[in-house]
Amino acid sequence: MDDLGRYIRDVPDFPRKGILFKDITPLLNDAAALERAVDWMSRQAPRPGAVVAIESRGFVFGTALALRWRVPLVLARKFGKLPGRTVRQVYSLEYGEDTLELQADALESGRQVVIVDDLLATGGTALATVRLVEQLEAKVLAVIFLVELIGLGGRERLEGYAVESLLRYEVHE
Ligand code: AMP
Repeated sequence: MDDLGRYIRDVPDFPRKGILFKDITPLLNDAAALERAVDWMSRQAPRPGAVVAIESRGFVFGTALALRWRVPLVLARKFGKLPGRTVRQVYSLEYGEDTLELQADALESGRQVVIVDDLLATGGTALATVRLVEQLEAKVLAVIFLVELIGLGGRERLEGYAVESLLRYEVHE
């Protein structure tokens, strides 16, 4: 599976100086590689009651997993994008903060969900999504990523949850 790493492109100083951006588009551009990544993800958790996908690259993998498992796809979106009543979670970024939302009726109490995103860095985004799911009294079975950056504290922040990642890279800040 590690050879899927050759479909991840390092882009230095993007979107800002000092950030080594992990570009997953080469993997998305190769149907066989994308299929293998989704296959791997689908083996990391039992079939859940729903998939919660994080905006925006998490939507790609979330859609594939929801189709594979034939379960509802729920979108965790940036503030102001979802109509109707929502629950919100503010989280901090390197500079400033952001807000993620779920529709309040997206998950009923007790539903078991898998959360998915492309990449785990500091874990702030994923932890905010965990909190949103828990605000609706649903249960997090696992949090699944294509890429994990080791050394930024993401896995530690998600302690107590099952965290799975296919490709891991050490980061030295
Ligand atoms: P974090 O909340 O720090 O774990 O950041 C995770 C979110 O930011 C994910 O949705 C990623 O898509 C994006 N992200 C953070 N760092 C990078 C990076 N070095 N390369 C690509 N995407 C990143």
